[in-house]
Amino acid sequence: MIRRTFIAAVLGVLSVLAIGLPAAAQALPTPAEEKGYLRYSQNEDVARFLSELDARCREVNVRIVGRTKDMPGFPAKDIFLAVVSENGALRARDLDRAKPTILLTAAQHGNEQSAKEAALRLLRDFAAGELKPLLKRLNVLVMPQTNPYGNQFDVRVNEIDLDMNRDHVKVEAEGVATIHRVFREFMPEVTIDVHEKGDDYYRVNIGCVSNADIHPSLQDFSRRILLGEVEAALNKRKIPFHEYLVSEEMGINTSAGAALRPEDLAGREQMKRYSTTDLNDGRNSLGIFETLSFIQEGASRHDFPTLRERTDYQYWGLRALCEAAAGHAAEVLAMVKGLRQDLMTKAGVYAESNVVHLRMAYARDPKNPTLTIKQFEAEAQPRTLGTLKADKKAGDAVRSADLIAPPPAKSPKIATIEVKNWFPNVEPRLSVARPLGYVIPARHADVVENLLRLGVTVMMFTRDRVLEVEAYTVGEIVPARYDYLAPERIEVAKAALRLPARRGDYYVSCAQPAANLIPCLLEPQSEFGLIRYGTYKLVPAAGDVWAFYRLTKVQDLPVMPYKDWRE
Ligand SMILES: [Zn+2]
Repeated sequence: MIRRTFIAAVLGVLSVLAIGLPAAAQALPTPAEEKGYLRYSQNEDVARFLSELDARCREVNVRIVGRTKDMPGFPAKDIFLAVVSENGALRARDLDRAKPTILLTAAQHGNEQSAKEAALRLLRDFAAGELKPLLKRLNVLVMPQTNPYGNQFDVRVNEIDLDMNRDHVKVEAEGVATIHRVFREFMPEVTIDVHEKGDDYYRVNIGCVSNADIHPSLQDFSRRILLGEVEAALNKRKIPFHEYLVSEEMGINTSAGAALRPEDLAGREQMKRYSTTDLNDGRNSLGIFETLSFIQEGASRHDFPTLRERTDYQYWGLRALCEAAAGHAAEVLAMVKGLRQDLMTKAGVYAESNVVHLRMAYARDPKNPTLTIKQFEAEAQPRTLGTLKADKKAGDAVRSADLIAPPPAKSPKIATIEVKNWFPNVEPRLSVARPLGYVIPARHADVVENLLRLGVTVMMFTRDRVLEVEAYTVGEIVPARYDYLAPERIEVAKAALRLPARRGDYYVSCAQPAANLIPCLLEPQSEFGLIRYGTYKLVPAAGDVWAFYRLTKVQDLPVMPYKDWRE
């Protein structure tokens, strides 16, 4: 009896406590909330959390969509996708496509931990919290942890030591291949990839598409409408926001992922611009399919004492973007659908005026020659990295988890500065007419595998056939000094030829959703192309004929689908 009364009293206290919690947390705390933001959530925590959400919420369905590469000492870990929709869809075919679909990817950079914690919180609030009503207007896809080993070791790279956010052209990382598999299955209208940058006055920074091959209306709508509303929503919460800005040494490409040396950067003036035009990041690589694609960068000191705070910033940024997209659901849907259809129509015929831009440059805006921004003033005293929690032997690796962070600066002074070297625009510098398709000789099967991992449809010649093609003869060439960079100079001359395609050679038609991506990957003069990755050995010598041929005239092609085995 006494025992029963005691239990009843305890339950009574617990229910009072539960009533005191916000509705969402009551539903299910995220792993970080459960641990009081004192540790980073790992793959197993994510799996437990997703299992519970999946079991409790009819709107949530979780799938294992990929696995990290099985490496000695690093057994393969699962990569998850949570599909959140009003009708409880699991596959793309079950989604209500009268609503736009938003895909959120987090943790490509493993040491940017708040991205994943915020993604899980947002997912929970869509599934069981106060964002649930938005499911009437949106479908939500969340990949909270695309780089489980990066998160585990709190490092930028993945299990094969790759920077995943420079891998979206050559797709070596399983995590990146998984993102593209999910993207191509669902073809979401909106995507956002979540990251952390250094500490900054602007707590939330969001970048939109910037490659000139992506229709300019997508950048314009993103910047003016969606980011405008995000900024207003964050201002109400006193969270400083700015469109994502990047500092770069002038006259050198620091964004492609090349292992530049300090001497390459020394003595160069700095400029500011928006996020890179490159196609090998998680934003433009999905944007090139005419997607409203974003990157969010939360300000971060990468330490535990600020984990709750930085997760909060990230959460409110993502939430504001989702709310803005939901508020413009019909426009988002019509715009993206229309642009994707237009692209397919244009790519189905050959015209000199249908061009794809292969090289582009950041440019000043004569109407806005400078940019005024706020930033924290540099502190007088150099900050320490933190204090070790326990002694280490000489030579032991020190990870951020081993450190007690230094106390935060009291209240950093804020300075207003004027950026003189402000390059907000992007101008095409080299463009070619998009061919109907490309012939890829059988010996370049590795290139074909790369295309397949990006979801590109590839055909195969079933018998020999002489074709009228355009081929490039290579003139002067100055190879790049680094992997990941296009040749410093490459001159080509186009010639109309009759060449045999052999049984077993490949054909890639441009009349598919990757219509803009395909020429950017296969043209010799593209600064975004496969030519810049040493693994493909595509860099020609002067006088060579470029590996791939352009088809610009409609011809009878004896082809069939190659490895067309997707679900
Ligand atoms: Zn990052």
